[in-house]
Amino acid sequence: MSTRNGKKSFYEEAMETFHRAADLIGMNPRVRLELEEPDFEHIFYVTIEIRDRLVPLSDEEAAEFQDIRPSSVKAAAAHEPLANGQFVLHRRALLESDIELRRGVINIPQKGVFRVQKGGPRKFKAYRIQHNQVRGPYKGGIRFHKDVSLDLFKALAADMTWKTAIAEVPFGGAKGGIKIDPFNYSREEIEHLTLRYVYKFRRFMGPFLDIPAPDVGTNPEIMAYMMRQFMDGEREHHKMRGVVTGKDVRIGGSEGRLRATGQGVVYCIEEWAKEKGFSLDGCRVIIQGFGNVGSASAEILHAMGARVVAVNDANGTVYRDAGLDVPALVQHVHHNPANLRRTVARFPGGTAISKDDFWRVDADLCIPAALGDEITGDVAERLRVRLVAEGANGPTTREGDHVLAQRKIDVIPDVICNAGGVTVSYYEWLQNRRLEQWTEAEVNQRLAAALKKNWAIIRDVARNRPQHLGAVDSRPYCVGREVDVRTAAMIVALKRIEAHYLLEGFSQ
Ligand code: NAD
Repeated sequence: MSTRNGKKSFYEEAMETFHRAADLIGMNPRVRLELEEPDFEHIFYVTIEIRDRLVPLSDEEAAEFQDIRPSSVKAAAAHEPLANGQFVLHRRALLESDIELRRGVINIPQKGVFRVQKGGPRKFKAYRIQHNQVRGPYKGGIRFHKDVSLDLFKALAADMTWKTAIAEVPFGGAKGGIKIDPFNYSREEIEHLTLRYVYKFRRFMGPFLDIPAPDVGTNPEIMAYMMRQFMDGEREHHKMRGVVTGKDVRIGGSEGRLRATGQGVVYCIEEWAKEKGFSLDGCRVIIQGFGNVGSASAEILHAMGARVVAVNDANGTVYRDAGLDVPALVQHVHHNPANLRRTVARFPGGTAISKDDFWRVDADLCIPAALGDEITGDVAERLRVRLVAEGANGPTTREGDHVLAQRKIDVIPDVICNAGGVTVSYYEWLQNRRLEQWTEAEVNQRLAAALKKNWAIIRDVARNRPQHLGAVDSRPYCVGREVDVRTAAMIVALKRIEAHYLLEGFSQ
C-alpha cells in the first residue's frame, strides 16, 4: 500500500478493513486491484450566479449609520434569512418599497442595519466518485457540505460498494457532492447549483449507470431537481425516473424511503437486543445528528418506548434525563422556519450540555448519525453504553474501534446498520421500473427481512458459526476463525463481489 511521507491517507486507513478481509478470504489478486481504487474519480466545477446579500454591520460600523432612515420594504419577499445572519436580497421586491441607501447601507426595521453586498458568479468544487459497478449500476448519496474532499468521497464510495453487496441489492458503489455550506445559500441558489451539477455530470448518470440519492445536506427536494434536469427534453422520460432515489413519494419516491435508514438502524438494534435478552422499552439512547437518519431513528425508538436522553448536532446538545419529547424535538428542528440551521440547540424541552458531556451520558445505546470519525479512542473511553449502532458512515476511528472492543461495547457496523436507505432505494428503483407503488408495510417487511438475514450472516461469520437456518446460510462466508464484526461484514461483501469477477471473468 502506498504512503505519503510515511503517513497513510484517510482513504488508505479506511481501506484497512478491506485488506484484512481480502487476506482472510485469499482474494484473487486481480480482483483486489480492481477494488483497491475507484473506477472513476470525477472532479469538476460548477458555477452559479449568487444573489445580492444583506450583510449585518458590526456594532461599531452600525453606530456610524444611526440616523439612517428606516426603509419600508416588503419584508417577506425582499429578504430571505440565511444561517450566517445574512439575508438574500431579492431586488425585485424593492421596486414597490420606499428605501434609503447611504454608502450601500440600509436600515431595515426589526432586522437591523446592513451593507448591501453585490452578488455575482461563484464557483464550487464538485465530485462524483464511481467506485465499482461489477454488481450493478453505481449507487450512492450526494453530499452538500463544507468539509468534503476527494479522499472522503473515495472512502464513502467504496463503502457503498460494500454496503450494496451486504444488503444484496444489485448496485455498485459511488458517492459525490459539492463543497458548500448549504445553509448559507438560498433555496433558489441551491436549486441552480443542483441543476448545474447534473448539467455537467449528466452523461455519467442514468438508471442503469449511476443513481444518486440524498446524503448529508441534501433531501427529496434536491433529488427532484436532479431528476427533472436529467429527464429534461427526453421523449421517453418516464423510463428515467429511477435515475435518482430518495424522491418525494408523490413523484415516484417509495413509501418508507424517508425513514428507511433510521428504520434499518432500529431493525439491527432489535436483533441485537433479542439476542442479548435486552428490552428496548425504557432503555436509554444517545444520538449524534438529528437530520434524516438521527431523527428517524429517534422517532421510531421513542414510539417503541425507548428514552432518547441526549441529542448532539453540529450546533449544540440537548439533554433530559427522563427522556426528551422526541415529536416536539422533531417539530423544533424540522418544522420551525426560524430554526435556520435545523439544530436541536435552544430546544426548550431539554438542558444544553457540552459535546464532551454528551459522550459521557449514561445510556444503553449510542447512535452516531452525523459525520465520520466522531468516535475516537478518547470518545470511546468516555462512552457509557452497551452498543454503538452506526447510523452515520464511518463514525468510528481505528482507535475508537480498538477501545470499544477492549471495553466490550458492541458495534453494529455502518455497512449493515445504515444499509436501510440503499435497500429501500432499490425498492424505489424497482417500483419506478415497474410503474408500481408499494405500501409502507410492504416496504418495511422486505427491508426487515433483508437486513435481519444479512446481519445474522455477519454475526455467524464473526463467531465462525457456519450454519444454514431458514433463510440464513452463513456457510459460504465463514473463514474458519473468529473475526471482529466489521471484518465479518467486509468478508460477506467481498465474497459476493469477487464471485462476479470470478464467474464473469474480466473484459480485456
Ligand atoms: P442530514 O444532513 O440530514 O443530518 C446531518 C446531521 O448531522 C445534522 O443534524 C447535523 O447538525 C449533524 N452534524 C453535522 N456535523 C456535525 C458535527 N460536527 N457534530 C455533530 N453533529 C453534526 O444527514 P443524514 O442524511 O441524516 O446523514 C447522516 C449520516 O448518515 C451521514 O454520515 C450519512 O452519510 C449517513 N447515511 C445517510 C443515509 C440517508 O439515507 N440519508 C443513508 C446511509 C447513511
